[in-house]
Amino acid sequence: MNYLTCLRGRRLRRRRNLFGILIRGQKALRINDIRVRWNGMSSKLRYEYVKTRDVPGGLLMVAKEGEKPFMPTMRECNSIPLHYSDRVIDIGAYMGQYSIRCARFPVERVIAYEPTPLSYEVLTKTKLPNFNPINAAIVGNDEKNTVLHISSGFGVTNSTTLSNGTARSIMVPAINYFDAIKDATIVKIDVEGGEYSFHIEDNFPDSLRGLIIDFHPVTNYNWLKKAKEIIIEIEKNGFQPVISPDWSSGWTRAGSWIRDRDLPDTTNPMLEGKICCGCGKIIDSCGKSLCIDCWNRWSIRHRRGYKLAR
Ligand SMILES: [Zn+2]
Repeated sequence: MNYLTCLRGRRLRRRRNLFGILIRGQKALRINDIRVRWNGMSSKLRYEYVKTRDVPGGLLMVAKEGEKPFMPTMRECNSIPLHYSDRVIDIGAYMGQYSIRCARFPVERVIAYEPTPLSYEVLTKTKLPNFNPINAAIVGNDEKNTVLHISSGFGVTNSTTLSNGTARSIMVPAINYFDAIKDATIVKIDVEGGEYSFHIEDNFPDSLRGLIIDFHPVTNYNWLKKAKEIIIEIEKNGFQPVISPDWSSGWTRAGSWIRDRDLPDTTNPMLEGKICCGCGKIIDSCGKSLCIDCWNRWSIRHRRGYKLAR
């Protein structure tokens, strides 16, 4: 969780994150420019690969706008133990802090929805056989496109609901919440206020065993009442709270819930060494393994726990 750094100009500096932990082991690899076009608008994303932990191959990027260190709500995320048969839906995946970790576990499948074009570009830099980033916003209705309000800064607070400091809006593809989570076992939602229109309270597919929700304040809307109603429905549907939001501060509005489900004895080809955990190529190994190409590409730190497929 402590791997986002800030870039000042072209110089990568080590920084203490919000919890004061020094970010270590990072080395800038290269700087690239991508131009992202969306609905006639064009925005330049300069990113730098940074050797870091928790990211396959040791790569994550920090864009030049990344002045604010971003802390995902990993406490809630880590409170739901993963299973190899999990199908994880990450709604508001941002740069994949949660979804990449799940994919590396490895769970059976991760779908990461991220509407902001820049953040999505970053998500696509990580290639894993069970990791599928999709550039779309999740909505509670059947519209095929929706308006995303882009805030200034690094895309952490972009939202499908209006918020203060909104600089501009773009249209993004939209996918209905129920369709998105249909056969999920774990759903994580972090969408800056969009969560109240999803009808979370009406949609609990039978497969669902874990829910992680970060509730956000919305101006001119009784969001707290709605959040509490959603939680009542979650718990009525057999979920037990693991972490309960206590609403006392911006850091305690997230919660996680779990319910008993039979965990299938599915085989996971990544776990069994049948496909490379980096690229999905067919290999003949035993346990989590990497093909020689991925082995050479991944940092030493990230290879830990993986075998080299012979
Ligand atoms: Zn490979």
